[in-house]
Formats: sequence, C-alpha cells, structure tokens
Amino acid sequence: GREVRLAHRPTGWPTPETFDLVETEVPAPGPGQVLVRNLVMSVDPYMRGRMHEGPSYVEPFQVGKALEGGAVGEVVASESDALRPGDVVLHALGWRDYALLDPARTAKVDPDAAPLGAYLGVLGMPGLTAYAGLLRIAELREGDVVFVSGAAGAVGSLVGQLAKLKGAARVIGSAGSAEKVKFLVEELGFDTAFNYKDGPVHEQLRKAAPDGIDVYFDNVGGEHLEAAIGALRTFGRVAACGMISMYNAVEPPPGPRNLQNIVRNRLTVRGFIVGDHDDLQEQFLREVGGWLREGKITFRETVVEGLENAADAFLGMMRGQNIGKMVVKLADR
Ligand code: NDP
Repeated sequence: GREVRLAHRPTGWPTPETFDLVETEVPAPGPGQVLVRNLVMSVDPYMRGRMHEGPSYVEPFQVGKALEGGAVGEVVASESDALRPGDVVLHALGWRDYALLDPARTAKVDPDAAPLGAYLGVLGMPGLTAYAGLLRIAELREGDVVFVSGAAGAVGSLVGQLAKLKGAARVIGSAGSAEKVKFLVEELGFDTAFNYKDGPVHEQLRKAAPDGIDVYFDNVGGEHLEAAIGALRTFGRVAACGMISMYNAVEPPPGPRNLQNIVRNRLTVRGFIVGDHDDLQEQFLREVGGWLREGKITFRETVVEGLENAADAFLGMMRGQNIGKMVVKLADR
C-alpha cells in the first residue's frame, strides 16, 4: 500500500513538495478492527486549514504522518462482528490505499444506491453543509433573492438548487470560469450567474440583482463578501460558510470596508461549522436523497485517478479546476 504524508507545514500556497507519497506495509487488523481498501477519497478546502499548527475546530495534520480525510472503501479483512468483508464504508482515513479502522469510526453505505463519490459530496459532508447553512443558518424564506459564491463547487452547487426548490424568488451564482457559469444556468437552474474574474464583483452583482439580495451564502470571503454586504436588503442574512480566497494568504487580507451596512440594514452575519449540525443529518438525507432519486437535484463530480495524483487534485481544487465535487479514485470495487 501507499500513503500521502505531510512533508512540511506550508506558508502561502502548498506545492507538490508539501506532500510525500510513501510505500507502506499493508497492516493486518487486530481484535475488533477491520482493514479497508480505499476506493475513492475526498479533497476538501478545510484540509488547507489542517496543515497549520495550532488549535482549530479539527486537529492539525502532523508533519511526517499521513493526511486524513473522507473516503469510501471496501472491507477486505475483518476481526469484528460489526462488519464483513465486502461491506462498503464511509470513514475519515483517506490519503492512503489501506486504512485500519475501528468499525465504530465507519458508516456503512449502500454502493448500489448512488455512485460512491456522492457519499463524499452531495449526500455527504458538503451536502449537509449546504443544507444546514442555507436552511438553518441563513433561514431561507420563500421569495428570498439568494446569492451564492463558489457556486459551481460541491457546496455551492447544492445551495443554489436547494434555494430554488425551497421557493427562492431568484438565485444568483458566481464562479471562476465561463464554463462554470454555463453549468450553473443551464444544468443547475440558477436564474443568473457571472464569472467573478470578468470584473469587480460589486458591479456584476448589482447587474444581476438590481434590487438587492436577501441571503448571501459565502464560500469565498474577501471581495465577494464586501459586495454582498453592499447588496443585502434590510434584515438580510449571511451564512458564513468558508472564505477560500484567504486560505493561502500569508498576511491577513483587508476586511470589507462597508461593515456599517450591517447596522444600517440590520443584517445577520453568522458563521457555522457543519459538525455542529449532525442533528439535521436524517432530515437532510431524506429530503435531498429523495430529490436526487426524483431527478430534481443533479450533481457533478470531477474525478482524478490515482493516489499518486491526490496532491495535484487537492491543489487543483484550491485553484478551481473542479466542477462540482473533486474526488480521487483509488481503486475499482
Ligand atoms: P469547492 O468544490 O467549491 O472547491 C473550491 C472552489 O473554490 C474552487 O473550485 C474555486 O472555484 C473556488 N475558489 C478558489 N479560490 C477562489 C477565490 N480566490 N475566489 C473565489 N473562488 C475561489 O469546495 P467545497 O464546496 O468543498 O467548499 C466550498 C467552501 O465551503 C469552502 O470555503 C470551504 O472551506 C467551505 N466549507 C465549510 C464547511 C463548514 O462547515 N463551514 C464545510 C465544508 C466546506 P472557482 O473556479 O469558482 O474559483
């Protein structure tokens, strides 16, 4: 087997040298353990945060140790009554060919109900993030005008579709290429979308929503956040989900210059972390799973082949090379 280790803690953008691909021995499960052969793994923006030292809402990665993250794999050996060889499980030990696990740290998934990557995307952590952020944090109401940044990514692409299904009057998305803008409007049903690289965000947003917005789902921070604060109407709400434009910054970037609007327009700006909203998991799977089966929600993934390309997949995702969820395929079932 092989695993990808953190070679050093990056300052600014990580590079291929930040990662080490290492040959390892395939371990045998001890009493109560299972050995899982990983089939598909996730690369997510939060992994950049775990490359820093110091306390956060998840443990930092350790230099010289394998990275971690969501993965789906097949049990190949079991010393536990809880799982049998052939079972397919979701777990948190990605970035390696083989994972040794306590069954309590896995969740069985149905490999025939959805493509395996969906458990890392639309039906997984990013899906719940979209669901909790839009419905609970931003308190979406019928008739709202909704703006979402990072709209063609794993979280954003579900946010836009959910907003439409839940009665938003208008859904506006921003993303970083013409191809993504087309995907938002033609495949996901956004009312309108723009490429934030085409001109100042506040100008493009004003054109897309001349009467302002009620909800901003922030995946990006920076210029997008300032533009949204400038466009929010009275009692508008921001779900602060992520600020990917800042994750590789060496110095803290300047903040929005228009915070006065928060007072003037009685805005709510609320940050959240998906892990605090597990209580919505069942409702989320019922509702979003149902819409998926009915074809009312679609999803895309960008698949990179091979653990040896996982670091490139992560860096590519941070640069916007993905449409929908970025996943790495490690093996066939
Ligand atoms: P995505 O699938 O959206 O991939 C990241 C995307 O970010 C890229 O495709 C790129 O698209 C965009 N991007 C990168 N740099 C910039 C930039 N400078 N300005 C604007 N866009 C940029 O990732 P996820 O859907 O997994 O995550 C989206 C956001 O949600 C992230 O901020 C993440 O940290 C956050 N998140 C938060 C969670 C929580 O619990 N609060 C849980 C999960 C995710 P483009 O081509 O459009 O630039």
